[in-house]
Amino acid sequence: MTLGGDGRVMSTAIVTGSSRGIGRAVALRFARDGYDVCVNYVESDAAAESVAETVRETGQRAVVVGADVGDFEAATDLVETTVEELGDLTHLVNNAGIDQHVHTADLDPADFDRVMDTNVNGAFNVTKAALPALRDAEGSATPSITNVSSILAFTGAPIECHYAASKAGLLGLTRSHARDFAPEVRVNAIAPGHVETDMTADRTPEQEANERAAIPLGRFGRPSEIAEAAAYLRDASFVTGETLNVNGGELMR
Ligand code: NAP
Repeated sequence: MTLGGDGRVMSTAIVTGSSRGIGRAVALRFARDGYDVCVNYVESDAAAESVAETVRETGQRAVVVGADVGDFEAATDLVETTVEELGDLTHLVNNAGIDQHVHTADLDPADFDRVMDTNVNGAFNVTKAALPALRDAEGSATPSITNVSSILAFTGAPIECHYAASKAGLLGLTRSHARDFAPEVRVNAIAPGHVETDMTADRTPEQEANERAAIPLGRFGRPSEIAEAAAYLRDASFVTGETLNVNGGELMR
């Protein structure tokens, strides 16, 4: 914990997979809200450094840690480096994720494992590594963990069963950890619908038109709109074990 110039308690967040897309938007939103940020990535080192520079321009501190969240040792290093460099840890956003489009008939079991390793094991690894620091956090509102799931956890998907299963798994992890870590640490999930990032950039115009037609608000989400949800859950002191659906109305029933 550090004190800002105005004596305000400054807190620290790790945002996994924050070199690009939704994670980048969350890291920058948290910085604008007064948080020091650990920017994590696995390959895009220049992009991660650029996010950290933008964090610093807000007056907050940033540390950049390349770490494959699917590797528990790397996840432990990610947390240790953050606490060493930034002093504490009050919030974790498990955002790092990968996707692949392939029917089950053509899906290599090794690719199934790869998606689960990053999307589910990754969240478990960083959470387990971060738990002691989160429990030790002082001077902030309740420390929290937010897991980034997906609308596909509820709908399934014909060409990404491993992705949908991983995102449904994250919701089980969220509720289990919400019960396990209460009352010291709150744990919630966000389930975005279609958001404009690199992950969704490979759609054909026809696919895009079909997907947009299924969204009552008539457009795809922006990364900043998922960051808005992450900021809400970070501050929502009486909310734990919940999933916040942010999808332009696509899932309403
Ligand atoms: P993105 O633009 O593809 O960015 C993915 C981020 O995750 C990058 O920063 C990437 O780092 C990082 N990453 C990937 N594997 C990693 C690993 N093993 N260890 C650490 N970091 C890793 O994706 P996005 O669209 O922003 O998605 C972010 C999250 O939202 C994901 O969990 C995704 O499943 C979820 N989501 C996205 C959508 C959507 O429509 N975009 C919808 C629902 C849910 P590098 O840059 O180094 O590769």
